[in-house]
Amino acid sequence: MEMGDAKTKRKVHRIEVIRPDCISAATCVVIAPDVFELDSSGIAVVMADALNVDDNTLFMAAQSCPTQAILLYDEYGVQIFPPIK
Ligand code: SF4
Repeated sequence: MEMGDAKTKRKVHRIEVIRPDCISAATCVVIAPDVFELDSSGIAVVMADALNVDDNTLFMAAQSCPTQAILLYDEYGVQIFPPIK
C-alpha cells in the first residue's frame, strides 16, 4: 500500500476532451469552471490546474457532457469514464 488512506487517494489522473465530439454545450464549464473552459473555437479545453479539483466534480462534469466528449483516466492510464463496454 502507498502512503495515505484510500479516502484521500484520487481516482482521476488525466482528463481528455475529444475535440471533434464537443458540441460547445458548456455544461462541463458550468459544473466545473476550474477544470474546463471554451477556447476561441468554442471547444472545451482542460485547464492547467484541473487535477486540483475533486473526483466527484470531474465525474459530474464528464457525465454532464451530452456527447460524452470528456474522458477520465486513472493513474495507470486506464479509461474510467465513460465506462468501456
Ligand atoms: S459538456 Fe461536452 S460538448 Fe459541452 S462543452 Fe463540455 S466537452 Fe464540449
